[in-house]
Amino acid sequence: MKILVANLGSTSLKYRLFDFAGGQERLLARGGFERVTDYAQTIDACLAELKNGGWIQTESDLSAVGFKTIMAQGVNGCVRLDEQTVKAMEACNSMAPAHNPPYITGIRLFTQRMPRTPLVGLFETAFYQWAPEAAMRYAVPEAWYEAGVRRWGFHGASHKFIAERSAELLGREDVAERTRRLYVDGDNTSVLQPNLRVISCHLGGSSSITGILNGLATGNSLGMSPQSGLPHNNRVGDLDAFAIPFLMRSSGLTLDEAERLMCKESGLKGLSGGYNDIRDIQAQAAQGNKKARLALEVFIHQVRHWIGAFYLELNGADALVFTAGIGENRAELRQAICDNLDQLGVVLDPAVNSATKAQEGVISAPGSRVKVMVIPTNEELVVAREVRRFLEAHPTQKTEDGHLRQQELQSH
Ligand code: ADP
Repeated sequence: MKILVANLGSTSLKYRLFDFAGGQERLLARGGFERVTDYAQTIDACLAELKNGGWIQTESDLSAVGFKTIMAQGVNGCVRLDEQTVKAMEACNSMAPAHNPPYITGIRLFTQRMPRTPLVGLFETAFYQWAPEAAMRYAVPEAWYEAGVRRWGFHGASHKFIAERSAELLGREDVAERTRRLYVDGDNTSVLQPNLRVISCHLGGSSSITGILNGLATGNSLGMSPQSGLPHNNRVGDLDAFAIPFLMRSSGLTLDEAERLMCKESGLKGLSGGYNDIRDIQAQAAQGNKKARLALEVFIHQVRHWIGAFYLELNGADALVFTAGIGENRAELRQAICDNLDQLGVVLDPAVNSATKAQEGVISAPGSRVKVMVIPTNEELVVAREVRRFLEAHPTQKTEDGHLRQQELQSH
């Protein structure tokens, strides 16, 4: 069973091709395209690469295309991406303007290009389905809540991968197995003892922190939209809601402009005076750029704030995990985040930390009560595994021209 996972950004398409034949789990190919202006052409180029590499003969060799979809109104979990679901995604476009539209474009083009191949999405909100209600509610009128104004949480595929992998590395196969089967069995992880407490820090272009108890998310720093929580590369992060009406009244800011500024000119870019890549910000700070230094300090402060929140919620932590572009590669930031936490049982090994880049490893000192780890994330694998399960749960039938086709079932 070959499953292609397509990761669609506003100007990029990255892909990974997995093969699950014979109960194995193999990554066959991976690649990507940057500066995409024509998605249709790029999808053709992606399929051509798979054919030229000998990974598939024709598109019909693909059992499905999987997507790490962001959010949709009234839809969660792992679902078939039919037109109804795509419309439900569209209804959330203003909440995820940088993320939902490219997925919608890509899904529609894949549908046209390969109408007989099931397209399946694992929503980024899926991992938080069992988070306690008190952690997910905003203090707003009931009618707003009914309209969807609540915390949803995102980066679900990444944090689920960290939940599974950290449990494996900590010798808790029971937790890893429950987490693997989470979307099949639901929340039955509370019976596991002793508790395994993990704080997962996904720090990249978008950043979020999740508390994980026995493989189950207890919340996420991202709230109703993927613009909230920690400051992101150019998106705002948490902001007092009253800032917007204040600026609209006092300076004539329009709603559209406010939205644009919060999505494109804020976050690390807003703070640093124009730099949205952490490498540039660090280089600027090293040269004495005060704004860049402040951007780093705000980021570090916010990361520690959320780690603290989950540390308290989980009654401590067995592991603190760093992942994604910044988490996997920026040892100096990991050091600054973990600074002066020895009373909470977090002590890094500076030499091991400095030497750990884009590779799995424990970076805490031998005596550290909390194991601090770097785990490169693998969101595409999580998507592919769920898509495979979805296909197995939804039997296929032959169409007139002999193709295998998935029955028109929904798993909402
Ligand atoms: P996203 O997938 O959310 O766009 P990434 O996880 O790729 O983001 O992370 C992007 C951030 O991580 C950028 O700020 C970049 O500076 C940093 N980063 C990514 N790769 C590296 C690397 N190899 N070395 C140092 N920093 C990196």
